This record gives sequence, structure tokens and C-alpha cells, in this order.
Amino acid sequence: MSVLPKSVQKVIDEFSRLPGVGPKSASRMTYHYLRSSNMDATKLAEALLAMESNVKNCKKCFNVSEREECEICGSVLRKNSKLCIVEEPLDVVAFEDSGVYDGVYFVLGGVISPAEGVGAEELRFDELKKRVVELLESEELLEVIIATNPSLEGEATASYVIDLFKNFLKEGRIRITRLAMGLPTGADLEYADRLTLKKALEGRRDI
Ligand SMILES: [Zn+2]
Repeated sequence: MSVLPKSVQKVIDEFSRLPGVGPKSASRMTYHYLRSSNMDATKLAEALLAMESNVKNCKKCFNVSEREECEICGSVLRKNSKLCIVEEPLDVVAFEDSGVYDGVYFVLGGVISPAEGVGAEELRFDELKKRVVELLESEELLEVIIATNPSLEGEATASYVIDLFKNFLKEGRIRITRLAMGLPTGADLEYADRLTLKKALEGRRDI
């Protein structure tokens, strides 16, 4: 039985659920909040609650946003002729930080992963198709860039996307490209540095 009060153990348990945080780090984080005298726990709790109630998904690209339409989709400086398909919102951050992309995005919300029980129906493929058709109808879309991670799951997801749009491809209505493999297999786009990402984008190949 734990010697810790229940409320303390509960916080440790919650921190332990965070990606990359083991029980030891979770305990250290918890003690930080226990010891803190400047309302750190309140600030953290309030920030989390505010995020939960204010942040939604952009209705066009499904990136996180505090508005119906995110800043990228709403910007006149962004080109609707290029749609970059990524796994998660953090991949958008990686591209934006690299400053090498001026098109728009679509966030799938993960990858197909049979091992983790994630099937195609769990991801936003219907919404993606709708978005592509919408952009084609407004005669803006030329290129779909598949920027899933170079992992097994990322590749399986890329194949699914290609399949989804193979008719548009055959009819010559769009170009489908995949990021160059300057990215090592198993790498995470989210952690790729600016130069690697720039090269991967510049060297993208047609499907
Ligand atoms: Zn958006």
C-alpha cells in the first residue's frame, strides 16, 4: 500500500500518463507543485482548463485553434494550391518553425496502426476527401503532399491516402507527392530540424 496521501498519488498517476514521463519524473513534478508557494498548481490547473474549453479543431484543416478557422487557413498569404497532410498538430508546428512551406495543411489525427488498434475509420479520411474535393471545386488545389512520418504506420497511412485519391491522380486533376527520405526511417517529423525538413520538402517525389 502506498504511504502517500491519495490526492498526492493521484497527481503522480496523472503525470505518469504523459508521454515520456516515468514514475520518477512524475514524482518530482508532483513534489514541485506540493512545495511551490506561488500558486503554481492553481496556474497549471487553470491553464489546462482554459485550453480544454477554448481550443477546438479548425473546421478546414483540423489543426488546433481557438477560432472556427485557424490562422493558417484564414491567411491570404497561404496558397490553397498545396495541401500538406500530416499526422498531428505538432507536425504543423515543425513545418511552420522551419519556414519552408507556404501552403495549407490537413491534420489526420494519427496514423493507421493495427498494433495499437487504430483503423482507417479512426482517422479523418472522410473529412480529408471532403476538403480535397472542396479545394478542387474552387480550382485551387494542384498538389497533395503526404507528410506522414517515415515509419511503418506512416507508410501504411500514406498508401491509404494515395488510394483515396488515385482517380483524381489518374485523371490528372492533382499531383500527389511524398516527402523525400532525407528523413531517417522511424524518425519523427515533429523533431526534425529545419534543414532536414527543408530538404525533405524540396526533394519530394511524385507518386
Ligand atoms: Zn485550419
